[in-house]
Amino acid sequence: MPFSLRSLNNYLCLALLATGVPSAMAVEPPTPPPQTPATKSVDEKNPFQDPDLYVRNLYPLSKPLRTPKITLDVSDAPEVRPWALAAQKLAAQWYGHITQIMGTDNLKPQKEIKLIFKKGIGPPAYMSDGNITIKVEWIKEHPEDFGMVIHELVHVVQSYPRARPGASKPGWLVEGIADYIRWWRYEPEVPRTPINTERASYRDSYRTTAWFLAWITGKYNRSLTSQLDRALREGTYTDELFPKLTGGKTLDALWTEFIATLPPRR
Ligand SMILES: [Zn+2]
Repeated sequence: MPFSLRSLNNYLCLALLATGVPSAMAVEPPTPPPQTPATKSVDEKNPFQDPDLYVRNLYPLSKPLRTPKITLDVSDAPEVRPWALAAQKLAAQWYGHITQIMGTDNLKPQKEIKLIFKKGIGPPAYMSDGNITIKVEWIKEHPEDFGMVIHELVHVVQSYPRARPGASKPGWLVEGIADYIRWWRYEPEVPRTPINTERASYRDSYRTTAWFLAWITGKYNRSLTSQLDRALREGTYTDELFPKLTGGKTLDALWTEFIATLPPRR
């Protein structure tokens, strides 16, 4: 409640009545309040009536999208079915939440996501045509690595089109967003791999870019990820989006500022 002479006076009168001070004092007419200026001063304004004041600090969430049917193909390695079932459950639980974190209000979810388990592929996992292929040998060596499923599931949601003329779709940013959701939203408790402050770059992709995005999100703009994601999906992303979302800071200026917050490490 805003402070005013009138409310103080009323409070004193009530207090005096309660303590039994002669009523003549208590009923004394209150001093007329000062003229209210045409526009309220900042002090008198109730900040809770102005939601715009909080937008910068509010992490925005899109509407969760319906989870597609998630199917398994373990024909190449039936023995991994228990792991595959756990991954299937995880993907079903997280798909909607990932769409909330991203700028997916205009995205139509696909009907089905296949989790395909294959032996002898190169990377631990990859996304292609909205399906996720996972290397059997990898999960046998790293059975704890369910975060990888989250990373690939982000790629399913991303499935960005080709950038429009004059715009770009940087791989470092696409991977950085996937790892931001994995490491900062799904498993934030896992210790971070330290960054080499002399050699690292925001173009390093994966965890380094993810850390950078998390820091910008906390310091400058809670809607960073959803706005980057929306621009990439519309094919309109350029590096100029960063200054637009951070009050004029270029990517290079942001990186310099971010690196200065970390302990020096070679
Ligand atoms: Zn990736």
